[in-house]
This record gives sequence, C-alpha cells and structure tokens, in this order.
Amino acid sequence: MLGAMQYWPLRVTRLLDYAEREHGEREIVSFWADGSTTRTDWGGIARDSRKLARALERLGMKKGDRVATLAMNHSRHLVCWYGTIGMGGIVHTVNPRLFEEQLVYIMNHAEDRVLFYDSSFRSLVEKLRPKLPTIEHFICFDPAEGEGFETLIADEEDVYNWVDGDEREPCMLCYTSGTTGNPKGVLYEHRSSILHALAGLQTDVFGLSRRAIVLPIVPMFHAAAWGLPFAAPIAGCKVVFTADYTPEVIHKLLLQEGVTHTAAVPTVWLGLMRHVDEIKGDFGKLQLLVIGGAAAPRAMIDYFMKRGIRVCHAWGMTEMSPIGTTGALPHDWDELDYEQQLDLICRQGRIPFDVELRIVDDDGQLLPRDGKASGRLQTRGPWIVERYFKEDEKATDEEGWFDTGDVAILHPDGTLQITDRSKDVIKSGGEWISSIDLENAAVGCEGVAEAAAIGIHHPKWDERPLLLVVKAGGSEVTADEIRRHLEAHVAKWWLPDEIIFVDSLPHTATGKLLKTALRQQYRDYRFD
Ligand code: ADP
Repeated sequence: MLGAMQYWPLRVTRLLDYAEREHGEREIVSFWADGSTTRTDWGGIARDSRKLARALERLGMKKGDRVATLAMNHSRHLVCWYGTIGMGGIVHTVNPRLFEEQLVYIMNHAEDRVLFYDSSFRSLVEKLRPKLPTIEHFICFDPAEGEGFETLIADEEDVYNWVDGDEREPCMLCYTSGTTGNPKGVLYEHRSSILHALAGLQTDVFGLSRRAIVLPIVPMFHAAAWGLPFAAPIAGCKVVFTADYTPEVIHKLLLQEGVTHTAAVPTVWLGLMRHVDEIKGDFGKLQLLVIGGAAAPRAMIDYFMKRGIRVCHAWGMTEMSPIGTTGALPHDWDELDYEQQLDLICRQGRIPFDVELRIVDDDGQLLPRDGKASGRLQTRGPWIVERYFKEDEKATDEEGWFDTGDVAILHPDGTLQITDRSKDVIKSGGEWISSIDLENAAVGCEGVAEAAAIGIHHPKWDERPLLLVVKAGGSEVTADEIRRHLEAHVAKWWLPDEIIFVDSLPHTATGKLLKTALRQQYRDYRFD
C-alpha cells in the first residue's frame, strides 16, 4: 500500500522554478576573464534557461543527449546547466585542466553532441576539434562578436515546458580526474542532485540561507561546484561567480559583493592568505569558509579561525556528488578551549543525514569507531555512485558499500579523520605513515609554503618518507628548522629521511598535489 500524499518527481528544474517564483530578484554576479562584471538574477537565469532549452531542441538535441561544457564559473554556464537539464539533456562538465588525451577520451566516451566553451579555451578547443567526432556544435560562451551563446538564444521565445520524467533520470555527468587509469564517469540523477542540494543547505553543512552571498570558487567542473549551484536556488542566495582565480580578484569580490560564504580547495586559500597578509587587508563579511578536496592544514584553519571566520572542513568525492562529511560544530563547542576547537576542525567533519560511513580492514572486517583504528573508508547513500557511466558492473559490494580509496579513522563523536589516500600512505616497517599529516605539519613551519611527502623504497623498512618543500617567497628556512618543527608534531619514526627544496610541486586538474607524478619522478631515488 502506498501513502495518500501527493507525489511529484524530484526534478532539478523545480529548483529553478522555485527560485524564479520566490526569489527571482536575487542577484547572480559574474566576474569574467576579461575583467568585466555582469549582473542578472534568478529570474533572468530561469528565462535564459528556457530560451536555451528551445535552442538546444532546435539544434536537434533529444532527451538523454550529452551537452558538454569547458568553462569556468559564470552565469551563462549556469544557464547552460539548467537549460540542458530542462530539455532532458545531461550536462557534462569537462575539466579544462586535464591532459589533452584525457579530454579527448572523456568527450568521446560521453559521446557529447554539443560543446559550450569559454573563449579562453578557444585554442584548446581548436586543437581537440578534429579528435571529437561526436560533437556537432561548438558554441562559445563569450565571443567578442558573431556566433555564440547569446546569439544562439537571442531570438528564442521565453516559453518552455521543462521535459518531465522519472526522478531517477540522469541530469549531469562528471568524470573523476583519474590519477590512475582512464577517468570514470559519474552520472548524477535528478533525485540524487535534489537530495544532495537539500543536504547542502543545512547549518551543519554549508549553512546557506536567503541572506547568504555565496562565492563558489570551486569550479563548476569540479564535482558540480560541490552542489552549490543546486543548493543556492533553494535558499535564495545571491551568487557571485568568478572566472578569474587570482587572489587579488577573489579578494576584491569578497569585499565588493559582501560575500558571506565561499568554498575552494586549500591551494586557493594559500594564495588568498598570502595576498591579504601582504596588503594587510581583511575578509569583509565572510562568515563561513569551506575547505575541501584535500586536507586543510592546521595552520590554515588557525589563520581563518583567528579572524573570526567559521571554517567548514569538508571531505567528499566526485562519486559522492560530492558531500561526504562537513565541519559541523559539536554541541559543546563553546566549552572547548581554542586548541581543542582547532583539533576538531582539523578532522574532516561529521556525517550528514543520508550518508553512511564505515571503516574496514584489508579483509573487509568492520573496524570500530574508536578514534584509533584506521582502515579503508567505505560509504553508501542515495547520492553516492552505484555504477560508473557505461559500466555493467556495480562499483559497490552487494550491500551497497562503495570503497572510497581513502584510509580513515572514525571517532566516537562521529567525526571523520582522513589519514591518507590508500595509494599515498607511506608503509614503513609494516606500519603506516600518513603523508597528509606530515605535509600539514610541515606547512605549519614558518617559511614553508607547500609540502609533499612520498614513500621512497628502503631496503630495510620497505618505504621511508621523503619530504619535498616549496619555500614561501623570500624565506630562508632550512631543512634542520623544518625537521625541528616536525619533531614537535609527529612521531619520531615518521620524520622524513630527507627534505628536499623544490621550486614548485605538480597539481592535479582540481588543484591537489599530484603524488603519482612525484612518485614517478622520484622512483629511482635512494637515501644515502
Ligand atoms: P579528483 O581529485 O580525483 O578529481 P575528487 O575531488 O572526487 O576527485 O577527489 C576525492 C578525494 O579527495 C577523496 O577521496 C580524498 O582522498 C580527497 N579529499 C577530499 N576532501 C578531503 C579532505 N578534506 N581531506 C583529505 N582528503 C580529501
């Protein structure tokens, strides 16, 4: 027997209809790569999305077709999301920072039919074009003149009935950046996206409200900008987009637009912190800073907390839409002293409703949530991948558990502590050294801008840590000083066998340390 309540499928288009109806005048600001700023609102986004849906149909797009984007964050990209989804299509956000072969692989695998791109990627698109046989239309988002996005929708009427269907139909496709093997596609559904968006609003998650002014620095091609473009229309936030990531621009936007909430990976914050220190500036009205995608160093969390900004340390992955855990404050927060508060935020947060987590050992045996046992982190829930795009096999076990590839500790209070990625852990004498902990401790040393720890083959211990360090501009910090700093923060046997200074470290397309490249580079390295 079913209940006796009204049913409507949870479709993403409802988010936009609601935003237009209930907070249509709330602003959407875009700062473009050419330095200009444009302003529209949720009503404008909805109108343009209907026009785009018509235009896509005119181009012959049908339900289920993939429409790719190679673009930074801006209002036209947002229109492209809603317009495509509205006509039943699937938005495929492509990460322009991937290698060319990966881009070609991904777009061919997805069989994209249209590609919308920013003019800043024009030369990349021209180079790839001959290798993308499925793409029939290449449309530039911001052409100086002639054919382009605005021309495409200009003559369309603002009347359209969104294509309806089952709530489990797909709406978005995101590929993992694939540090090993080919990237894999994660196919988000209408339902999973709505449930995820609702979760994102919660105070203990991203805490969005109608008063919030959100600057999602995390790109729309990185796990759907962590779901913010779907959560914001529910809350009715003002959204500020930027296609320019220089710390000067981010800082200017924070102040000028009165940003209250923002989100990005740690490397972005490093740049911003340096800039704000240099100019002796402040962060304006900023209330909540989400740090995710990689572990946030303690020194970074301390920096923002000392300035009265709440730090939400979040963990997740593309396969999880991507919210996994977020930095919810415990009920006794006010009774904790500052160091205890800092300790807590250094962990990756708590589990929101509708995500389940557990840790298991290498034989799949359940490990306790005791704050000590460290094991393979597994997850399940309605916004977590079941099967990769075009794969027959499930990516989960029979009980729905998906192995995240992370190694973690679960604490009795429900907080998650990521120890490492399973492939980045340094295995020394049968014990594990957390490369993340080493790196974060090193970054806490004055004069260290960035650090990477990797395991180097060792005849006796199997592996021992090598620490690669990028000095902060003008710093004269020495290896001995870093070692002394580390001694106070990690176990003695964790101390790196060697510390090497480098000019820069490689990063993945989503701004994380590219450990595979480092391991490759130092494959034959041996400690004397
Ligand atoms: P990719 O980096 O492959 O593009 P994801 O963004 O999906 O894709 O990466 C997810 C991974 O990033 C997680 O499995 C985890 O290893 C790492 N990660 C994400 N957030 C954190 C965090 N707060 N602390 C530590 N690691 C994190």
